[in-house]
Amino acid sequence: MEGNFIHDIIEKDIAEGKYSHNIITRFPPEPNGYLHIGHAKSICLNFGTALKYGGVCNLRYDDTNPVKEDDEFVGSIENDVRWLGFEWANLNYASDYFEKMYECACTLIKKGLAYASDMTQEEMRATRGTLTEPGVNDRNRDRSPEESLKIFEDMRAGKYADGEMCIRAKIDMASPNINMRDPVIYRVLHVSHQHTGDKWCIYPMYDFAHPLEDAIEGITHSLCTLEFEDHRPFYDWALANTDWPEPPQQIEFAKLNLTNTIMSKRNIKKLVEEGQVEGWDDPRLCTIAGMRRRGYTPEAIRAFCDAIGVAKANSLIDMSQLEYFVRDDLKNKVESRFVISRPIKLTITNWPEGKTELCAVENNANVPEMGSREVPFSGQLYIEQDDFMEVPAKKYFRLYPGNEVRLKGAYFVTCTGVVKDEAGNVTEVLCTYDPDTKSGTPGADSRKVKGTIHWVDAQTAVRVPVREYGYLAYPNEETGKNEFDPNSRTELTAYAEPSVAQAKAGERFQFFRSGYYIADSVLSKEGAPVFNQIVGLKSSWKPEQK
Ligand code: ATP
Ligand code: MG
Repeated sequence: MEGNFIHDIIEKDIAEGKYSHNIITRFPPEPNGYLHIGHAKSICLNFGTALKYGGVCNLRYDDTNPVKEDDEFVGSIENDVRWLGFEWANLNYASDYFEKMYECACTLIKKGLAYASDMTQEEMRATRGTLTEPGVNDRNRDRSPEESLKIFEDMRAGKYADGEMCIRAKIDMASPNINMRDPVIYRVLHVSHQHTGDKWCIYPMYDFAHPLEDAIEGITHSLCTLEFEDHRPFYDWALANTDWPEPPQQIEFAKLNLTNTIMSKRNIKKLVEEGQVEGWDDPRLCTIAGMRRRGYTPEAIRAFCDAIGVAKANSLIDMSQLEYFVRDDLKNKVESRFVISRPIKLTITNWPEGKTELCAVENNANVPEMGSREVPFSGQLYIEQDDFMEVPAKKYFRLYPGNEVRLKGAYFVTCTGVVKDEAGNVTEVLCTYDPDTKSGTPGADSRKVKGTIHWVDAQTAVRVPVREYGYLAYPNEETGKNEFDPNSRTELTAYAEPSVAQAKAGERFQFFRSGYYIADSVLSKEGAPVFNQIVGLKSSWKPEQK
């Protein structure tokens, strides 16, 4: 992992002996949805930083809000973090710290730094002030610590209804930072919690809970996104007044924003619930589950997160940059196969009747050690429609009447004519072949041809369903906000060389000259794979030369 401003801070802290133990970081998702590529950035940063400095990272469910959370998400989060290649030192639930958080609130009350308030949410909103005007003191502000403590006990005991009473920190209603104007730290909520059940009917607010969770776990560096910068003064205040010998420090970094997708859990959830996508693991989504099903690799996602780095300023990363790392990771790992997505028939008119031959085709042009396979070849083939033009465009080197090309791994063929249907569309390309040009035989390449195209043998080809993907979303012209593109998936049936039918769920290939594909883990059956396009072969993004 490359250095960044956070690592500079950590190195300074280590050099100065700020903490008595190795660094501890945490990844603290709220279990209210599946993780996405933005979380991957945070995971790589938190786990990667701990690894780099010989520390550890905890996985913590930030489950202090009982209303929005669900057990389904808990399992998916652990699975996704492990799939990305990381292992936590401790798996924690913030809700396990409720007793300690309650004690900390009592400490504040006893110190005269928090009080029980019966103001309604509306009253609080009306007295909070604005960016330019100070707020108005709560009428409960001078309540004695003894009385507040008693009310807090009664809140815990269930003697108050939701919204009837709360605990506020006593800081400064005139603070220029609105987060410091006596924020609520505890509220009454008669709701059962997925982890603590009905044990509690009071719950801590996020801003109060989070610093305490960090301190309880001995976190040294609490890395969070930029929108929490204004919350840091309260983070520090809460810790300073609840007596921690080595309080953690919060450091903010910029969120990952990606073009052409929909990222926040709330918006992804909407797509799932509306049935616009197949589920949280739809291959078009940038959820970890979606990217896994799409065929992205953890190595590619980690390399991407490393490359985009960590900064203090928000930026928008182009999706093509993520795709670059996927392609880059797969290029030397997967074998290629001949698959024709949009077929047109090619007949070799001088091919011996009934003859079938095997042609050796290399599995990966970059990696000779990956060997070759034998692909059946005969006088009846399919090629891509794109690889033939009746009237060639300028600089078109593939098949057109009178032109000679190499059929990859097989022979030179020359186009001698076409067959058309009644409407005048070409339905078949006619060729002759030169028997002295078989790939791999002496003198096979004695003439130069400019085009090489691939093919499948019509008789032995297998038909496989293939799903190709465009981007999930495009910006709305007026609002600039990304909107779901309902045409982002194309389904077709391709013709493939016979071995493709044996692909196992999760197996990846390069479909020669087209892109990378994976046998879908949900839809594939034994002997009947369904393929997802992972990424095309062409890249519009290149890394900067260093
Ligand atoms: P969302 O808005 O998608 O629900 P969140 O921030 O509410 O995201 P949490 O579960 O609270 O999701 O986040 C867990 C951790 O992941 C937090 O530390 C958060 O800062 C980080 N995180 C979330 N989104 C991004 C992002 N786009 N880039 C970097 N880190 C992120
Ligand atoms: Mg959230």
